[in-house]
Amino acid sequence: MSTIYAVMSRSDVRGLLMRHTDAHVTDELVTAWLAGLAGYSLAECHAALTAMGTTARRATPSDVAGSCDAARDRPAGHSASAAIPPQQRRPSTSSTATTRREYHRQAGLRGIRNAYAAMGWERNPDHDLARSVPCPFCKAKAEVVCGPLSRNRAGHKEKRDPVTRMHPSRLERARQTTSTPHAHKEIAR
Ligand SMILES: [Zn+2]
Repeated sequence: MSTIYAVMSRSDVRGLLMRHTDAHVTDELVTAWLAGLAGYSLAECHAALTAMGTTARRATPSDVAGSCDAARDRPAGHSASAAIPPQQRRPSTSSTATTRREYHRQAGLRGIRNAYAAMGWERNPDHDLARSVPCPFCKAKAEVVCGPLSRNRAGHKEKRDPVTRMHPSRLERARQTTSTPHAHKEIAR
């Protein structure tokens, strides 16, 4: 996330406090807020404090951090627009939108794996990952389990993985699909 969100300076924090809170802005207070809001950008904190309205006057750094987290967790789109006045929103280029979508997608994949691990489920995350794309070998459609084909029309041989019941090239393709946007991101930035 550090690549997406810029870091605030002391004067950024001082400006935020002066603008939004009733606090007597001391160096100690600036230090505390800077530490409490490490990893959040000025634009995010500004938006969070603005959205709080009058309660911002007595807000703590953890209130602001929580509000920023909630904003990040909201799916990019209409709900976020409704909560934050348009003039407060960070200009959103298509590249940051792509980066955010990719971030949420990756988090979703991690979430699936974590849930399986936590529940002790037998379902295999590689199986689900492979299932998200069509099979290049047996031509099974996305969401459809691979057929028992071991030799295709082009004469290529490939056995299904006994655990995932998917052809290995399908899992490989799914993994490449997952990692491709990273390369895209490097170019976009
Ligand atoms: Zn297949």
